[in-house]
Amino acid sequence: DDGYTFTIVSSNEQSWQFEVKNLTERDEWITGIQEQIMQSLQSAPSRKNTLDDVNSEIAIVRTLRKVNGNFKCVDCRSENPDWASLNLGTLMCIECSGLHRNLGAHISRVRSLTLDSWPAINLSVMSAIGNHTANKVWEANFHNHTKIDSKSSREDKEKFIRAKYEQKLFLAPLPDSKTSLSTQLIKAVLKNDLQHFLRVLAYCTPDDINKKYKLNDSRTALHFSCAVANPVMAQLLIWNNIDTTLQDSHGYTANDYARAANSDECIEVLVSNDSSQETSTAKTLYLTKELFVTSNKERDRNHSSIV
Ligand SMILES: [Zn+2]
Repeated sequence: DDGYTFTIVSSNEQSWQFEVKNLTERDEWITGIQEQIMQSLQSAPSRKNTLDDVNSEIAIVRTLRKVNGNFKCVDCRSENPDWASLNLGTLMCIECSGLHRNLGAHISRVRSLTLDSWPAINLSVMSAIGNHTANKVWEANFHNHTKIDSKSSREDKEKFIRAKYEQKLFLAPLPDSKTSLSTQLIKAVLKNDLQHFLRVLAYCTPDDINKKYKLNDSRTALHFSCAVANPVMAQLLIWNNIDTTLQDSHGYTANDYARAANSDECIEVLVSNDSSQETSTAKTLYLTKELFVTSNKERDRNHSSIV
């Protein structure tokens, strides 16, 4: 009787028992199952994905290395950097990437060009900034400080990187010291001046970033970024802890502004941020409830008019 039952054991040690009437039927089943396994192995999406992944890795490295200044590490100038700082918009060598990681993600969000996945917005931010623009901001006031190079010791590299991004020693002073940082940030958004935006952002605390435009106008820099459909600036603000749920004086959030501007990219940036997703769900529920109440009233009115 044993001949009429068979067991399939998978590589993760799951097993399935089969029972058939006779040996011929058993062999038919085994052949059928083996064919299915072969077919699914040959068309395995994992193999195709690997090839796609390799192609997209190459494409990402090529695209980002073409950005101005990106053929060398933003800090030590080693050639062919393949690590990135998302929020700084720069490429760097593996050793500097380790030192960036030590600074903490609130200063530098480190990603690998080849090992990490790259959502479209991350590529947009990296393409918009690049090492040349970033150093115009972060090394603008460099003057007589000692530069590091690929042969500098790890200690010297760390000292330089901390001075540059943590102590912000080489930032150029802002030209307009009378206007508040939040207003300067909003003006940079409206002028679409990314370099100035980055410089102001480097000086801002989370409080500055979340400040409202004017006493009677509670829009933040995020409302304005979405109104002018600038997903790169919106993403940079979010990485710098802007509150995506803040409402303007009329109760509109940045998400409402992105929708009004028809900016799918801005909407995507906001939706991929958890807190904004909660608000939009809450809002949808609220709207549905409103609609329900309205339609009930409508029905009651119709009903009473009939009566
Ligand atoms: Zn380096």
